[in-house]
Amino acid sequence: MENGKKATLWLVIPCYNEEQVIDETAKCVKEVITAMTESGKISKNSKIAFVNDGSTDKTFEHIKALCAGDSIFACINLSRNRGHQNALLAGLMVAKGRADAVISLDADLQDDVGAIEEFVDKFLEGYDIVYGVRSERNTDTFFKRFTAESFYKFMRVMGVDIVYNHADYRLMSRRALEGLSEFDEVNTFLRGIVPQIGYPSTVVEYKRGERVAGKSKYPLNKMLAFALEGITSFSIRPIRMALMLGIFAFLVSVGMLIYCIIQKAFGRVVSGWVSLSVSIWALGGMQMLLIGVVGEYVGKIYLETKHRPKYIIESIILNEDEI
Ligand code: UDP
Ligand code: MG
Repeated sequence: MENGKKATLWLVIPCYNEEQVIDETAKCVKEVITAMTESGKISKNSKIAFVNDGSTDKTFEHIKALCAGDSIFACINLSRNRGHQNALLAGLMVAKGRADAVISLDADLQDDVGAIEEFVDKFLEGYDIVYGVRSERNTDTFFKRFTAESFYKFMRVMGVDIVYNHADYRLMSRRALEGLSEFDEVNTFLRGIVPQIGYPSTVVEYKRGERVAGKSKYPLNKMLAFALEGITSFSIRPIRMALMLGIFAFLVSVGMLIYCIIQKAFGRVVSGWVSLSVSIWALGGMQMLLIGVVGEYVGKIYLETKHRPKYIIESIILNEDEI
């Protein structure tokens, strides 16, 4: 850092019902952070902040015990469950202004903590955003790998600019966080927002491990909702595709009309109920689909205009020693 001052690093870890893994995670990340403070790479004020996303199990008790035992741990306790993205955002916004760099990672140790030091090295080289990108997915089940990879490809096709195979394991600098706080959207899809901030960015590859314990909080239905959320928040391509489809259907119907007139002129009037019923279904279906697409965006506008808070922080445990 400038004037020889060491960078303060914050780790932000959203947790929802993670009582089975939280202590193990805390131990692993603390080792990494302590090693870096001891070697003088980062400041001793660095923190490991857990965001308790309205857990219904003993996660909060575990976090409180960790915070009481060591001032390196901090806790941001949300008023209720708001979902991974909002919990992460809450943590990032608390870290903003306090940390020089923040790394977000999952509580289940799937994000290889061994990459943290590499993230920090990149930050010290001058990068503002460092994306953790999975080099392989050997440990995921075939189903998870297939659905997750299709997710990234589909997002691309739908016109959303995201980093391939990057989840939410990333480092952001102080000014990148300030940039993020300027984005006032209600629909939090951080993977879509972060690339829009700009500033120099780079990528660090890591191997995605298996969940240490507990089960995934992202079943297929949540993943689909997440994809839809990402697409409709960041791209108007589906609406444009709807328009194209409409134009295409209109052109086809003009062709049909001409065809029918010609047939009529030649006196070949056939009772074509098949073509008739097919076109009723096709057009009806298409219309409903298109109304659905438009409705999705109207719903988005509705939510955005309400400007509801994305999260409410109930309490913060933070031992700020020397500033
Ligand atoms: N999470 C959260 N709130 C939620 C769901 C998940 O804070 O409503 C956290 C969870 O504790 C974990 C991270 O988000 O730290 C990623 O969740 P998970 O590991 O279940 O997702 P997967 O890795 O299976 O995609
Ligand atoms: Mg996980």
